[in-house]
Amino acid sequence: MSHTVVDLPGLPPGVEVRRSARRRRTVTAYREGGRTIVVVPQRMARADIGPYVVELMGRLEARERRARATDDELAERARLLSGRHLEGRAEPTSVRWVSNQHRRWGSCTPADGTIRLSDRLVGMPEHVIDYVLLHELAHLLVPGHGPKFEEWMARYPRLVEARAFLAGVDHALGHGLGDAGAGEPGAAAPQDLAADGTAAGTLF
Ligand SMILES: [Zn+2]
Repeated sequence: MSHTVVDLPGLPPGVEVRRSARRRRTVTAYREGGRTIVVVPQRMARADIGPYVVELMGRLEARERRARATDDELAERARLLSGRHLEGRAEPTSVRWVSNQHRRWGSCTPADGTIRLSDRLVGMPEHVIDYVLLHELAHLLVPGHGPKFEEWMARYPRLVEARAFLAGVDHALGHGLGDAGAGEPGAAAPQDLAADGTAAGTLF
């Protein structure tokens, strides 16, 4: 056990403070299930912990507000792309960024209309992010990557360019040049990369 729980009166409900032997100076907070965990260094004085908890809770809430704002932007982008290239027919119930997709750029659950994009796309050219978003939107209309799917995708003007970009990234990751694929032999194995550069394995 690398931490002990600090019994501190007056904590906001649902907050647990842990002392960590491994943590020397910095204090951190994160959500775990329905609770908020604050981790403080082993040696931090009890009197110092309370103010840190208040400050960290404020920062955590601000970060979550920002994340919701960018999810809203993404949903707005989805609406625009659906209108522009899919006759407005794709109407996702939610579109959001996720940080737990390491091998996929995006995914879609047609049953409930939800779309998730990997936050590894953040910082990539806008037409590439648009392409991934449109790809997932098109899955709300057509499952799989057959001719009907390609018919919709063909309406996207920068299709070839965006696919080439992602194929290049996948290639680099597969060879351990990027962080996501490093130390993972066989990452982006041949079946993950369509020969035509559509990066089929990383878009679902
Ligand atoms: Zn797909």
